[in-house]
Amino acid sequence: MRLALTNLVVDLSHKRDLEKKIIFGQAALEEYKEYQQAVDNVVQAILSLHAENLFAKTWISLQTPRTSGRQDYIKCSCCGEVTAVEKCNPAQEGFICRVCSAKLS
Ligand SMILES: [Zn+2]
Repeated sequence: MRLALTNLVVDLSHKRDLEKKIIFGQAALEEYKEYQQAVDNVVQAILSLHAENLFAKTWISLQTPRTSGRQDYIKCSCCGEVTAVEKCNPAQEGFICRVCSAKLS
């Protein structure tokens, strides 16, 4: 079964500037509170919705991967977490994981 999120209730893109300030440790206490309130609002909205209004459910059949599944791992140049090379993006120095890539974009 495949579940796909279909509701933009989780979208906090209007708080992206604030998010970046928090990530880089430049946010004031009031800004942390503002962001936490926005997250709390999203959580409340999610909890108030029925699953059908959040996700599309489909049945799919998956093929067995052709590769052995063996991957090489490196440390993300940004957060230091060990990540599969295939799931990283090249950076100015080394590679950065998808989470860090998203935070920096
Ligand atoms: Zn990272």
